[in-house]
Amino acid sequence: MSTVPFTKEEPDPVTATRVLVLNSGSSSLKYQLLDMARPSPTTLNGAETDSSRLASGIVERIGEAGGVADHSAALKQVADELSSQGLGLDSPELAAVGHRVVHGGTRFTEPTLITDEVVSEIEKLVPLAPLHNPANVTGIKVARELRPDLPQVAVFDTAFHSGMPEAAARYAIDRATADRYGVRRYGFHGTSHAYVSRATAALLGKEPSEVNVIVLHLGNGASASAVRGGVCVDTSMGLTPLEGLVMGTRSGDIDPAVVFHLARVAGLGVDDIDNLLNKRSGLVGLCGDNDMREIGRRIAEDDADAQLAFDVYVHRLRKYVGAYSAVLGRVDAIAFTAGVGENSAAVREAALIGLEPLGIEIDAVRNAVRGSAARLVSTRTSRVAVAVVPTDEELEIAQQAYSLVRP
Ligand code: ADP
Repeated sequence: MSTVPFTKEEPDPVTATRVLVLNSGSSSLKYQLLDMARPSPTTLNGAETDSSRLASGIVERIGEAGGVADHSAALKQVADELSSQGLGLDSPELAAVGHRVVHGGTRFTEPTLITDEVVSEIEKLVPLAPLHNPANVTGIKVARELRPDLPQVAVFDTAFHSGMPEAAARYAIDRATADRYGVRRYGFHGTSHAYVSRATAALLGKEPSEVNVIVLHLGNGASASAVRGGVCVDTSMGLTPLEGLVMGTRSGDIDPAVVFHLARVAGLGVDDIDNLLNKRSGLVGLCGDNDMREIGRRIAEDDADAQLAFDVYVHRLRKYVGAYSAVLGRVDAIAFTAGVGENSAAVREAALIGLEPLGIEIDAVRNAVRGSAARLVSTRTSRVAVAVVPTDEELEIAQQAYSLVRP
């Protein structure tokens, strides 16, 4: 593999409009290079098409057989791929690197310019996100080694939820214990909830401050949020991404005593139970599949286990729609996003059917139409707009990073 010669040119204040977004996982590195001066889904007007995305890709199996050795080698591979497209990381057009960081704790509530001190603060949050933050930190470190002169910005998955009122953020447990160990509700997928709630306001022709939106981010991980006037007031994930909705492999809400019961009666250890609830629960635990497409196919063949998994998933979703309707009081829109939310008409319909008393009328015909653009799937008389809004976490991270370095 060739290495790229870095000339470490200073970002040019006039032409530096590109942002490299890095999403660094334990064994993968996803990247996108965006040009903020070009039309993107949030700035498009009519005739233009999205040309902001210059390059994207993923390096997988980092540290595994057949993959590159480590994150440093992975980033060099990304740099080589970009160079071969004439988009080298040595370009003066690069304005910043935006890093997705999963847990910001109570310390980070805004996109943050990365310094040595910020890196060590993110490392201190590792106990809150042992699977994610170490990989995020590694990504930051290798990117800083490669371009130490370039502004690097951390964008936190928890940040959008940091304005939640204490009533929503607190668990009702002993306060001294909670405060000592940082036990509170942080929420995740914040970048997506922020982007989708704003895009939903735009779809309605309103400012974010004018609308109350329930966002349902249904991917492999899934979370709901209640957003009042652009501010998140509640969300379904908590201390970790395990709480809330039924997910691909995670249980979501359970009675915490299930943990004690399994420890005492089944003799399981803490790590076994952690693994059970995070990896072998949710849809996969109920029916053996975590892909909603496969579950749909099995239901069409009258598979009872797949039907049960679907029913449990949808029941939980309806409960959160009801709960967040009450939290918000007035709901202007419900937005479905991520893999399941954007693609499964069956989940959307099952989640909202019969909710006319809440002002929610989903239109079966509009809902069944597939599409890649943000669109309404409610009836024209529905008091609450129901929308399908594709999420774009990379664009949101790029915009947040860019606005920090080019205010
Ligand atoms: P991640 O949380 O990993 O980013 P995504 O948002 O990409 O996940 O969602 C992945 C999930 O989306 C898949 O596991 C699958 O259940 C679901 N999905 C993707 N396409 C479809 C589809 N056409 N119909 C139903 N579900 C889909």
